[in-house]
Amino acid sequence: MRRTEIIVSSHSDFCFGVQRALNIAKEALKKNRIVYSVGPIIHNPQVVSEFSREGLKIINDVKEICALRAKGKSKKINLLIPSHGISPEVLRKNRIAFIDTTCPLVERVQRIVRDLSRKGYFIIIVGDKKHPEVRGLAGIAGKNFRVLKNKREAKAFNFPQGASAPAEKKLKRIALISQTTASVSNFKEILSEIAKKDFKELVSFNTICKNTIDRQSEAQRIARRVEAMIVIGGKNSANTSKLAKACRKINKNTCHIETREDLKTEFLKGKKSIGIATGASTPPYAIKEVVERIRRNDI
Ligand code: SF4
Repeated sequence: MRRTEIIVSSHSDFCFGVQRALNIAKEALKKNRIVYSVGPIIHNPQVVSEFSREGLKIINDVKEICALRAKGKSKKINLLIPSHGISPEVLRKNRIAFIDTTCPLVERVQRIVRDLSRKGYFIIIVGDKKHPEVRGLAGIAGKNFRVLKNKREAKAFNFPQGASAPAEKKLKRIALISQTTASVSNFKEILSEIAKKDFKELVSFNTICKNTIDRQSEAQRIARRVEAMIVIGGKNSANTSKLAKACRKINKNTCHIETREDLKTEFLKGKKSIGIATGASTPPYAIKEVVERIRRNDI
């Protein structure tokens, strides 16, 4: 029987921001029995479980830390900010010390938003309003911002009117920025829709991280060549979901799985070539396991 050709993307390690966050968390856990993280440290359930066994506890809101402090449950609480960051303003307001694993590229976007906000721009954030990175950016932007997810939302978008609207002068100055893990084509589509609106000044910052762009283009290159494409990564990972969507656009035989257990024999059946791509927070061992699973199917 002919062996299935397997092509693994050359961009399949943790991205540097995720690797850095995990290294910092490991160091913190060496020194402390319990460390709290605001949301999962990275968007991969398997890695998060490994860290929770080592003592990393997830809280959903910094208010939970305030409550723990108020109850006197712990004199010193070790709070870790995940790689996608949260609004530093929230922490400062609550006077909470923290261990920061925010990716430097996310911090850069936070600085841009802070600067634009000070200058009075109306800020449009391209991304998912529920994503922690976007929530953090929104917290920095203040009141004059809007999150847009896609072209449809951009088309329907109107600048706020009435008493709560920014002053006329400010209203006409628009700045567009992006979640670091957004897709380039989506960002461009939204930008072209916003460019049709009435404004005095429009500035745009493509703040999509290079690792995300390289990962997407390499995965799409492979998706063009193979009969089926497997994208491995957390279902809660924005960049993995977008990677799967980008591959599916090119190759309908694309599946998004978290682990080898999700891989169906039916999907592998008869495929002579299979491509594998991973999200920025997918552990490298997941690829090895999926390759082994495909090879078992060859027998
Ligand atoms: S995907 Fe990019 S921005 Fe996000 S953590 Fe990784 S390197 Fe940083």
